[in-house]
Amino acid sequence: MSKLRFRVVETAFKKKAVEVPVPAERPSEYFGKYVFNKEKMFKYLPSKVYNTLIDAIDNGAPLDRTIADEVASGMKKWATEMGVTHYTHWFSPLTEGTAEKHDAFVEHDGKGGMMEEFSGKLLVQQEPDASSFPNGGIRNTFEARGYSAWDPSSPAFIIDDTLCIPTVFIAYTGEALDYKAPLLKALRAVDKAATAVCHYFNPDVKKVVAFLGWEQEYFLIDEGLYAARPDLLLTGRTLMGHDSAKNQQLEDHYFGAIPTRVAAFMKDLEIESLKLGIPVKTRHNEVAPNQFELAPIYEECNLANDHNLLIMSVMRKVSRRHGFRVLLHEKPFKGVNGSGKHNNWSLGTDTGILLMGPGKTPEENLRFVTFVVNTLMAVYKHNGLLKAAISSATNAHRLGANEAPPAIISSFLGKQLTQVLGHIESSTIDDLISLSGKQGMKLDIPQIPELLIDNTDRNRTSPFAFTGNRFEFRAVGSQANCASAMIALNAALADQLTTFKKDVDALIEKGEPKISAILDVVRGYIKICKPIHFDGNGYSEEWKIEAAKRGLDCETSVPVIFDNYLKPESIAMFEATGVLSKKELHARNEVKWETYTKKIQIEARVLGDLAMNHIIPVATRYQTNLIDNVYKMQSLFPVDKATELSSKNLELIEEISVRTAFIKEHVDSMIEARKVANKIECEREKAIAYHDNIAPALEEIRYHIDKLELIVDNQMWTLPKYRELLFIR
Ligand code: ADP
Ligand code: MG
Repeated sequence: MSKLRFRVVETAFKKKAVEVPVPAERPSEYFGKYVFNKEKMFKYLPSKVYNTLIDAIDNGAPLDRTIADEVASGMKKWATEMGVTHYTHWFSPLTEGTAEKHDAFVEHDGKGGMMEEFSGKLLVQQEPDASSFPNGGIRNTFEARGYSAWDPSSPAFIIDDTLCIPTVFIAYTGEALDYKAPLLKALRAVDKAATAVCHYFNPDVKKVVAFLGWEQEYFLIDEGLYAARPDLLLTGRTLMGHDSAKNQQLEDHYFGAIPTRVAAFMKDLEIESLKLGIPVKTRHNEVAPNQFELAPIYEECNLANDHNLLIMSVMRKVSRRHGFRVLLHEKPFKGVNGSGKHNNWSLGTDTGILLMGPGKTPEENLRFVTFVVNTLMAVYKHNGLLKAAISSATNAHRLGANEAPPAIISSFLGKQLTQVLGHIESSTIDDLISLSGKQGMKLDIPQIPELLIDNTDRNRTSPFAFTGNRFEFRAVGSQANCASAMIALNAALADQLTTFKKDVDALIEKGEPKISAILDVVRGYIKICKPIHFDGNGYSEEWKIEAAKRGLDCETSVPVIFDNYLKPESIAMFEATGVLSKKELHARNEVKWETYTKKIQIEARVLGDLAMNHIIPVATRYQTNLIDNVYKMQSLFPVDKATELSSKNLELIEEISVRTAFIKEHVDSMIEARKVANKIECEREKAIAYHDNIAPALEEIRYHIDKLELIVDNQMWTLPKYRELLFIR
């Protein structure tokens, strides 16, 4: 009998919170300690270089390669003072996660010795020769290699002994092989388009920035228990496990007192994050047992995204110091809430205005309405694409389950905003604009009190909810790279704002005054994008029917959802905004399909192995005990009596036979189905085969395993159970 499960449970129970050394300085003092931020740039760079670099960072001014050497030398000086010996270009390939290849600062000095060296060339560009990263056929291993190039808008930082330089990762032929390159392009596109629209209201606006505030949900599981679950170890989720008798019914975990071992982990994580310049602010328990959430103050989107990627890897590291493993999978446990990553998103100007927030005057509110309505238009036109942007094999377990947004993109606006839009839609332009003597024009756009809006009904079933001065894209998966959603959203809005400007300008050219032209177009849009607006219960069956009637994308098969990237309107939008080319979109979809297939394939293998090596042997051994008992009954009692006394055991014996036979047959047929699917050449078709034929088998097999878990002797069961995984901390 395997003792591992009991040993790890016992050890986990005895663990105490780890002492976390708290820095002597205040958080405001150690914030950004490991970041080459503006303060350090100022200190370590000549003033001319500093000014050029800041201009590049703040205004996207092109960076002269000649200053790279000086920046590199300043960076190296700071880094070596901090004890750093290596550097790496830090990038996010299409695998979701980050990649790095460390090189030491050392170079030959030409005199037989070594010297510390970090030139501008090494700062600006590196060839990671990462030929095994997914590229969807763009980068054939035998031809062009990929290279990484410095992104000065995200500051370099130190992890242990390594200076990490945020970079984009592109093929020599120019195509993006990562998330950052298209994200930067999408942010530039939305800046340009939104700035042009802002000029209707304020000609002084020079720049519009997209903001992102992510809320990261995660589970913490004791490390020993984790190690005793090969499925968690290899796939990030439990492929089997019966519901614990108690899980989240009482909602006693949500916002409850944070357990001490977890509190120590959080404290440690926060200190590390602050030192890395990540402005973490909020922490609390989430709905499911052992589920937690972390959120920083929102930042510029590209930086916020890097910070999210960084914090996910810091979480993994810090959790181990506390004897935990962090689970970022969207659905580690069946029947228990999964984890998402709400993306709070808005636009703001360099003049300090939040464009998704209501203002104080009717004119400011017209600007607010303009941006909100254009956002709704973008989300409406590209609702299928936005769903594709958050879809993955893992997030599929969460979406559409009654705890996360449904697999249909719609937008919640709340009562107040709905009223304002309704008012604009139903009034005539003359009603909305009255000419009132000396004061000139008067606009009748109802005021939205800011205080009220903060309290708008928080509809948790909405995937894209308006929440006061921002939209909250809630369908993003907990382990996803937020950039995927942010690329699609910002690009779609950029394209939409460009259309809006054209529409308004056309009316102005015809002689219509600016304000009435804007109102005219906005009114038309309010009517067109109505189908995306839904304030009701996204979990209801009626909504699915209604959404289909409205023409919203209701597809639930992830590989098919990915088709949205290749629809003519998506390609047109990405090409018009210069964010992704048709070739890149095709290549990236190949990667998406391939990744989907691999994830399901690994799960199927792991489940097959566990079923054959853990479940069936244990169930059979228990069954043998029962059979033994039945025989012994017969030697003690007369036949009739023995049969009567053994009736329950006989039922169990039969049940075990039936279930193990089902499991064995289905594991075999799943292997056969894989063999068939693996022969399919086309990545899309293969992914569809995995979705249609293999993913459902995982559920069927699991059902019987979970039933066996309920009847087999607890002492014999080798895998830690849900109650142990979810309640020990
Ligand atoms: P809730 O859980 O109620 O949705 P939280 O306070 O946990 O809210 O998280 C809200 C997140 O939204 C934080 O990261 C916050 O910084 C961010 N946020 C607030 N205002 C904006 C905004 N205008 N644009 C983008 N993000 C924002
Ligand atoms: Mg939220």
